[in-house]
Parts: sequence; C-alpha cells; structure tokens
Amino acid sequence: MLAGERDGLRSDVRTAIVTGGASGIGKATCELLARNGYRVAVVDRDELGAHSVADAIDGVAFGLDVTDERAVISLFERAFEALGGTLDALATSAGILESTPFMEIDLAAFRLVYEINVIGTYLCIREAAKHMKSGGRICTIASVAGKRGGGLTGTAAYAASKGAVIALTRNAARSLAERGIVVNGVAPGPVLTPMLLPTFEDRVHRARVEAMPLLGRAAEPLEIAEAIAWLLSPEASYVNGEMLTVDGGICLD
Ligand code: NAD
Repeated sequence: MLAGERDGLRSDVRTAIVTGGASGIGKATCELLARNGYRVAVVDRDELGAHSVADAIDGVAFGLDVTDERAVISLFERAFEALGGTLDALATSAGILESTPFMEIDLAAFRLVYEINVIGTYLCIREAAKHMKSGGRICTIASVAGKRGGGLTGTAAYAASKGAVIALTRNAARSLAERGIVVNGVAPGPVLTPMLLPTFEDRVHRARVEAMPLLGRAAEPLEIAEAIAWLLSPEASYVNGEMLTVDGGICLD
C-alpha cells in the first residue's frame, strides 16, 4: 500500500513536516511539496520565517529549536494534529555551518554544531517515526562535507557532523524498517542559500568552490528540493538507506 492510501481509500493530500523550513533548502522543499499537493508543517527556530513560508503555501508553522528534546516531542504531537492526524513525510533541513580552521575551533561551538546537525536530526526522525504509519518516508540533509571531510566551506565540526548524519540516516533506515518507514538522505554540494552566501563574499573562495562541480556552479535550493521531494515520494519506492549525492559532479562516486 502506498503512503497516500489509507483504509483502502486513496487520499490525495499527503502530509509533511519540514524542519529548517524557513530558509534555503528547507524553504524550497516546503514550497515544492506544497506545489506537489502536500499539506506542509513548516518548522524552524525562526518562527516568523516559518510563518512567512507557511502563509504562502497554505501550510502550518511552528517555532522549534530541534535540540530541545521536550519541545521536539511536543511539537511533533501538535504538528501531527494540525496536519489532520497523518504524517507521510519528514525532511530534516535544520542545520548550521561552521567554518573555523581546525586548530582554532572553540569546543562549545563544536558541540553546538553536533547538537543541532546530528542530535536535532535524530530527535526529529525519532518523533516523526512515532506518528508515521507503514509507508512513511524520511529524508535527511547531509553534505558532501560528510563524504569528503569538508574541503569546500565547512571545517572539522561541520564535516564530522555531516559524516554522522550519513551514518545516522543509514542506521535509521535499518532501525525503522520494521515499522515500514523508509529513510534516505541527500548530500548536497554548494547551494546558494543564506547559509552559504556570506562565505561567497570572498571572491577567491567562491571561485574555488564553484570550480569544484563539473557543472561549474553552485546549486539553486530548488535543485536540492527536487531530489528531496523525489526521495519522499512513492515513486522512490525501492530506494532505502541511500545517500543521494546532489553536487553537480564533485564526488563522482
Ligand atoms: P539556511 O541557513 O538557509 O537554513 C537553515 C535553517 O535551519 C534556518 O532557517 C535556521 O533558522 C534553521 N535552524 C538552524 N538551527 C536550528 C535549530 N536549532 N532548530 C530549528 N531550526 C534551526 O541553510 P541551508 O543551506 O538551507 O541548509 C539546510 C541544510 O542543508 C543544512 O543542514 C545544511 O548543513 C545543509 N547543506 C547546505 C549546503 C549549502 O551549501 N547551503 C550544502 C550542503 C548541505
């Protein structure tokens, strides 16, 4: 049975929660899922930004810090109810970048990157899984930094966190298979979002990074959202535990 079918009846409205939905890749994912017919809960610690995105797509908005366990538990309960008591899809786009050189990283900053990018992702997957029926689909957002050990903009804390997201994604696929829940992820290269754009003010850095993909440019957020939306769709029915690299041809693996 596909996720959109319930009790033998086809429901046309699929539902999704997108964390980090106020900006960048998460925002593009909310907008694309809405165009594809989903009812979307936009979740972000930037509550005003979440409302702005949700208002434009007839969705619902919630403010949340994904590192706050009790808040995550409560949020997923409220979002599930607001979506009509169903949850078909989760995309975990909440994350932060860290670009401090290896020898200079402050440990509090390192721990914060891990708390948000890894533990925040874990908590949201866990709470979504409690509300999903068999057929539910989850997509995480890692990075080529997790595969290459950084080398673009992120440094040790960021690369390590994204490597952990890749392992977490595969473990979640293993662990949630018995519930019929599918878990995949995307590993983007450089994407033109508010996270990356300030670093591109350094023209030498920008030229170096944009020369890395065979396509010779950074991605638009929608180009990542398209991959996320496909992994969340019933059309990707036999893809599970996969980390889809969407990098214009950097990694070539
Ligand atoms: P962005 O800064 O535009 O969006 C990230 C969103 O996450 C923001 O709205 C922010 O408010 C939210 N957020 C941050 N910490 C949060 C927290 N603790 N709780 C709730 N929300 C929180 O960045 P983006 O480029 O769209 O990044 C989205 C994801 O994609 C991140 O995980 C990032 O690491 C990953 N990624 C980005 C790039 C890139 O080049 N932009 C490349 C590879 C991977």
